[in-house]
Amino acid sequence: MGSEKRGGIGRRAVLLGGGAALLGTAALAQDELRRAWWRLPGTEKERVEGALDHKGAVWTAASGANWRRADRPADFVIDRVVIHVVQGSYATALKVFRDPGHGAATHYVVGRDGRVAQLIRELDVAFHAGSRDMNERSVGIEHEGFVDRPEGFTPAMYAASAALTAGICARYGIPVDRKHIIGHVEVEGTDHTDPGPHWDWDRYIPLVRAARAKLGGAAPGVS
Ligand SMILES: [Zn+2]
Repeated sequence: MGSEKRGGIGRRAVLLGGGAALLGTAALAQDELRRAWWRLPGTEKERVEGALDHKGAVWTAASGANWRRADRPADFVIDRVVIHVVQGSYATALKVFRDPGHGAATHYVVGRDGRVAQLIRELDVAFHAGSRDMNERSVGIEHEGFVDRPEGFTPAMYAASAALTAGICARYGIPVDRKHIIGHVEVEGTDHTDPGPHWDWDRYIPLVRAARAKLGGAAPGVS
């Protein structure tokens, strides 16, 4: 983690830089101040058992063997959302992600009825993309179903997933586009094919964009 290394000059420089910017902006919202504090490196966030990043999700902890403790976005920038399909049911996904022998888990699982489970905090690194770099920079979302059964990708699931992805994009300033919201198949070097050819990106991205617009605030990269 190197928290010692992150103290001292680096942190002071951030504070001074931030302070100078703050002086020039009289009407800075309390929300912005909190966010500035949140992004300071070296200030590890408080952890509460069962705390959620996505409102409406149900906390179902993954095995600690399937993720790594981190302090994102202070130690790693989060700029990708990776979409997966389970090749199985919602219950199966939760079961294997609780299994320490599985070696992998996503932050979230979305069911075909629209329910959402959170298994790993977004500040931690989930082992889901098969690439250390991609794991460190992304939030992973599993979807109940099979790559060759498009009828399993229901409107309720697309809507719930889009709301979840929109929230992630809002929290970390991620542009809502196909460069930043990708399928597991698009991760460099992967041999996984999910979410497969039937995942309807032309439907999904506009849903994310609409959900993101409802959340308000800056939406970088959206033209
Ligand atoms: Zn996958």
